Amino acid sequence: MAMTNPVSIIKGAISLIIGLGVTIKAFFQPVVTCQYPREVIAISPRFRGHTKLVGDDENPDRTRCIVCGMCERSCPSGAIHKVEGEKREGEKKKVATSYILDFSTCSQCGICVEVCPTDALAFSADYNIVGYSREDCRFDLVKEYEKRKTT
Ligand code: SF4
Ligand code: SF4
Repeated sequence: MAMTNPVSIIKGAISLIIGLGVTIKAFFQPVVTCQYPREVIAISPRFRGHTKLVGDDENPDRTRCIVCGMCERSCPSGAIHKVEGEKREGEKKKVATSYILDFSTCSQCGICVEVCPTDALAFSADYNIVGYSREDCRFDLVKEYEKRKTT
């Protein structure tokens, strides 16, 4: 049977005390993490989630999108599809009825937000999007706006 070396016992004990010292020190320091998902932190206003459509100031029933197609044509990733709309009674401009964003290919470059002539696009603060397929990353931003309006 091998004899335990007293030097290695002392070294082990010193290492244990140093390790415990680090743990005890950290125990009394301010908490820098949060208990997600029970707890969430405030998102920075500069955070870039997926793009969202912004409501019209004069008529919150519609978005500011006039279906010009500039964003769809400018997107370097081809992430914007089916930007469609209709001309409604009493409206001077088209109203968007469909706007598909494929977030799985979006690089969040912001070109669509910059080129929009009516400031109809902004970055959302959604950071916890999950899904099982690419399909789960395709959003109809018009439907999403309708949902946001009612909640
Ligand atoms: S942020 Fe960039 S990549 Fe994403 S949809 Fe807009 S233009 Fe396309
Ligand atoms: S550029 Fe703006 S107004 Fe034009 S289709 Fe895109 S979101 Fe709508």
